[in-house]
Amino acid sequence: MRFDFSRIFLSSNVNFYSDDGPMQRVLEFLKYRGRDELSSLGKYVSSEMVEEAMFIDHYSKPVLQTWDVLDERMDGVWISPSHVHVIDRLQSFGVISRPILEKDLMHHFISGYLISDSGLFCTLTLTMQTAYALQKYGNDHVRNTYLNRFISHENPWLGATYYTEIQGGSDLGANRTVAVPDGDAWRITGSDKYFASNSGLADASVVTARIQGAPQGAKGISTFFVPALDSNGNPNYRIRRLKDKLGTIAVPTGEVELDHSEGYLLGDLQTGIYIAMEILTVSRIDDAIAAVGIARKALWEAYRYAQKREAFGKALSNHPLVQRDLVEMEAEVEASMAISILSASLFSGVWDVRPPYSREYHFARTLSHMAKNLASWSSDYVTRYAMELLGGKGFLHEFPIEKFHRDSIVTSIWEGTSNIQALDLLEVLLKKDVLKDLREYLSKLLEEISDKDIRSTMDDMVRDSFSRAANYLSSEQREFYAKDVLDLLATTTASVLLYAVAFKTGDTGMRMIATVYRWKHFDPERKEPEIYKFALKHMEWMAHSSP
Ligand SMILES: Cc1cc2nc3c(=O)[nH]c(=O)nc-3n(C[C@H](O)[C@H](O)[C@H](O)COP(=O)(O)OP(=O)(O)OC[C@H]3O[C@@H](n4cnc5c(N)ncnc54)[C@H](O)[C@@H]3O)c2cc1C
Repeated sequence: MRFDFSRIFLSSNVNFYSDDGPMQRVLEFLKYRGRDELSSLGKYVSSEMVEEAMFIDHYSKPVLQTWDVLDERMDGVWISPSHVHVIDRLQSFGVISRPILEKDLMHHFISGYLISDSGLFCTLTLTMQTAYALQKYGNDHVRNTYLNRFISHENPWLGATYYTEIQGGSDLGANRTVAVPDGDAWRITGSDKYFASNSGLADASVVTARIQGAPQGAKGISTFFVPALDSNGNPNYRIRRLKDKLGTIAVPTGEVELDHSEGYLLGDLQTGIYIAMEILTVSRIDDAIAAVGIARKALWEAYRYAQKREAFGKALSNHPLVQRDLVEMEAEVEASMAISILSASLFSGVWDVRPPYSREYHFARTLSHMAKNLASWSSDYVTRYAMELLGGKGFLHEFPIEKFHRDSIVTSIWEGTSNIQALDLLEVLLKKDVLKDLREYLSKLLEEISDKDIRSTMDDMVRDSFSRAANYLSSEQREFYAKDVLDLLATTTASVLLYAVAFKTGDTGMRMIATVYRWKHFDPERKEPEIYKFALKHMEWMAHSSP
């Protein structure tokens, strides 16, 4: 008898794309028509990928293989053949090739929401970043030599980004790795790259380094494309060891030593740090998207469990407190999903923009900070609480739910912690005057709300939030308040957006969810059980699966 994964994962027959009504509403609102591939991916993820990801996490960790049998260094990471297969399969859905060939970055981001496994999707995020960097900032020679490898049908290349050094990940300006010119290439040296995910699997990476003699701090950073093998076919850098991690097991995270490694400059010497940060924005949005994708999976599973499991003679889902739990989790997921997909859509729209950046670019970046922070923390709460709804079983290694939580924790840490998102937001608000653009954007969203009372309430709320944000920003202690600004603007934006989507698409259930979200964040004393009941009814789509 074959092992039946659906006995331990109740959502194994859903389609994470077509069955997800709220996500479909957001795409409709943003006028993005997803390709059929996304529907196939949505089914593949629930039926095969989640099982494979759990198996890798528990029983099949990547292993560093330093030497080959003839005593030559190989610095490769060995993963199981089925792990190789799942990466190939995921790439076959166009997760990397669609953006490169058709500039359809949204296809990548929505795929990320569906895949969302922090380990497997990290491999694809890093690959997207590398291909994106090459396409936009590689010179003709480098682009022509390498870009096609990332989109080939046969063994497509994988990428990586080596930014963080042992002395500081948040402070990129503290990078000690040095680059010196060598003909058309550069030689890069430094043994401090301390968190290098996908090393040993990646065929090429994006590396930050300081050109010898460049000024100290972030302005002196340049960005390089570094193949895993040099032009003589030898390993271009060494992998010291792999990290032992709490989650994201499917992606190996190594420590990398560069030693006169061959690299190619991306962009020019003046704009290196901007390019590094732009490439980071791709992964920050991926991170937001994946965080909320994990939360959706955890909630879906908890919802189905609550319908089947009984306590005190009735299904968990019939207990008022559980109903309230489910609705409040749904509100967090929908709000984070909406702002993350909006952020993805805005960033996709500035694909052709290069430094010096336009207002639209700065606006898109602003949304990425808000989305990453909101989504990662709501994912932390939703995945954690989903465990609790499964009771003691939620704490067991033998069911997938605990892995969702372990994988969600990293999302607020990597690609810049919460504090760093807050500081980056502060910088863009103060230097680029983006607050005005955000206010205008929200005013347009408010126009979508056709119910006068709700619009007036939301109008007041937005006015109040912006006045509080302006006070924080004008304070001498603005750095101390940076996270208040981030939380306030993110929850305000998500709240208005949810209503706008609900009204524009005529989704009354989502309107109730938007109301619950508003109460939770802006009017915490208020809770009307009837609205919760209505909202819960809206969630029934999670009980059904498409054929
Ligand atoms: C599983 C995993 C995989 C990773 N993969 C990669 C990868 O592939 N490539 C890569 O380049 N990096 C990678 N990272 C590194 C990650 O991006 C960094 O860990 C992260 O950016 C934080 O840097 P740090 O660990 O050096 O912490 P630090 O920078 O030392 O920060 C420590 C704490 O201090 C806070 N802090 C720092 N500066 C300030 C400030 N000015 N104000 C307020 N608070 C501050 C931070 O918020 C944090 O809470 C990975 C990390 C993990 C956990």
